[in-house]
Amino acid sequence: MSFEEIFCQDKAVSILQRAFASDKIAHAYIFSGSEGVGKFKTVCQWSKLLLCAEPIMQNGITDSCGQCPSCIKFQNGSHPDFNHIHKELLEFTEGGKSKAAPVDVPIAVIREFLIAKVSSRPVFSKRKIFVVSEAEKLNKHSQNALLKILEEAPQYCCIILLCTRLQSLLATTKSRCQIVPFLPISEDKITEQLKQAGAEKKSAKYFARLANGSLGVACKLVQLESEGADFYQTKKEIINSLCNLSLRDTLNLAEKILSQAKTISEIWAKLNKEMSKPDIKRTVGKIMIRIIMSALYDAMRLDFVQAESLVNFDQLEDIKKLAARFNCEQAAEKISQANQAIQQIESNVNERLIFERLLLNVAVSDSMACSNVQR
Ligand SMILES: [Zn+2]
Repeated sequence: MSFEEIFCQDKAVSILQRAFASDKIAHAYIFSGSEGVGKFKTVCQWSKLLLCAEPIMQNGITDSCGQCPSCIKFQNGSHPDFNHIHKELLEFTEGGKSKAAPVDVPIAVIREFLIAKVSSRPVFSKRKIFVVSEAEKLNKHSQNALLKILEEAPQYCCIILLCTRLQSLLATTKSRCQIVPFLPISEDKITEQLKQAGAEKKSAKYFARLANGSLGVACKLVQLESEGADFYQTKKEIINSLCNLSLRDTLNLAEKILSQAKTISEIWAKLNKEMSKPDIKRTVGKIMIRIIMSALYDAMRLDFVQAESLVNFDQLEDIKKLAARFNCEQAAEKISQANQAIQQIESNVNERLIFERLLLNVAVSDSMACSNVQR
């Protein structure tokens, strides 16, 4: 892996390259952008470069050498000056063993794996790196605990927060870090990558649109598909059911979605051992809601865009039926309810309740609208 292989994040790479070339490396960064756009890959390459003993210049880009003892330790995942902090470390904190998988990044993790380690000097390289994954899940206590370190980090430290929702961070946290933006990747480029990975043309285009600029998410969907997750077929069935959804059908549809989500989560868990099962379940739940949301969004803009640019371009008849059921305002309200449902999943509300309520809202407001029309 090298900087040159980082996909479509030229702006972020050039910010880091300029900082390195001018020896103006910040003590704290926020890599900000959606999930799956290359933040983690970039932070690994950046950390490896900062730790490397003999950086090299190739095609105008400075990169780690890949051969010095530091690079070799980094590649083996055993560099003593590289610290990856993630919420799952909770079980290794004092008294954390019996605790359930956390939803946010607990203060105990920040204290024991970051704050306590910052003051000791690097042992192998001239720098010490701390990467905090899912920084959007740092709760207020964790962020407050971090503030002093972000402000007065020792010279040898570089702390990098990976964040998908900048608005979740306190202004005081943001103001102490340099923000490096990671932009969504274009649909064409994602589709191309998915086709190269073996995805069929139609599903590649659909997954690229559903992933909304996230190559990582799109690749995961295609990978799950090849392992038998049947995502594409599932989405077709969900949208088909939505366009005729009656109050009576909502519980059945919720049940069906939950059961499909369970199957997909199980396949995902086999593929990805480092992600906790509750996290996988929440992620799949959110994708299921995005499928529903994409249909509502398509229905809302059906009259204003070409059919080819809909997310569900492959189910035009279903989208037309759905659009006939409610006006733009109603569709927008349902989309906002779906957004709330995504937030509820992140707050660990019971998923069955979330799906039942969401589908009920789609069906109820629709029948109320119809009865209003009849009157
Ligand atoms: Zn090296």
